[in-house]
Amino acid sequence: MIIAIDGPAASGKGTLAKRIAAHYGLHHLDTGQLYRAVARDTLAKGGDPADEAASLAAARALDPESLDDAALRGPKIGEAASFAARHPKVRETLRAYQRAFARRNPGAVIDGRDIGTVICPDADVKLFVTASPEERARRRYLELKQNGAKVTQDEVLDDIKTRDERDQNRAVAPLRQAEDAVLLDTTNLDIDAAFRAAIDIVDAAMGHAGQAG
Ligand code: C5P
Repeated sequence: MIIAIDGPAASGKGTLAKRIAAHYGLHHLDTGQLYRAVARDTLAKGGDPADEAASLAAARALDPESLDDAALRGPKIGEAASFAARHPKVRETLRAYQRAFARRNPGAVIDGRDIGTVICPDADVKLFVTASPEERARRRYLELKQNGAKVTQDEVLDDIKTRDERDQNRAVAPLRQAEDAVLLDTTNLDIDAAFRAAIDIVDAAMGHAGQAG
C-alpha cells in the first residue's frame, strides 16, 4: 500500500504523513529531507546548491542514514534545498531511492512535492495537503519560535511565498496536485481534525480499492 502526500511548504503534510504511517503501520519517508540533505552536503563542501554539478555530486554521495539530522530543519536549508531540487539530474538521482522505499513491505507513506505526479503515479491513495500562506506562516513561525529561532512572522511568510513560487514554477516536477489526488485544505483544521479527515479519505479510497480488487 502506497499513500502519496504532496503539498506546499509548511502545509502540515509531514506531521500528517507521520501520523498516517503510524496509524496504518506503514513506513514513512519525508522526501524534503533528501533535498535538504543534498543542500547541507553541498554547502558543507563550500558548494552552491544552485550549481548543478555541486548538487549532483552531493546527491550521488548521499547517505540515507544521514537524514535524521536536526540541522536539516531550518528555513535556510529549506531555501537552499529548493535550489538543489531544480536540477533534473539531482531529481533523477534521488528518484531510485524514493521508488525503492515505496516498494518496502508492508507499504509506505511518502510526502513531498511530486510524489503523486512523478515518484508514485500509481499510489493507492493520493492526498494534496494545503493551507493558506498566512496560516502556514503562522504555524511555522510558532514552531521556529519554540525552537529558539529569531525570526518574525512576516519573514516566515516571505520565505513561504518565495519557496511556493519556486516549487510551482520550476521546469521539472513542479509542485501541483495530481488529477486523482484528494484535496485536503487544513487552513481551518487543527492537527487532530486534519488527521481524522485524512484517515477518512484513505479509508474511503481503500474500501473502494478493496471492492475493485
Ligand atoms: O518539504 P520540505 O520543505 O522539507 O522541502 C524542502 C524543499 O525540497 C522544497 O521547497 C522543494 O523545493 C524540495 N522538494 C522537492 N520535491 C520533493 C520534496 C521536496 O522538490 N518531493
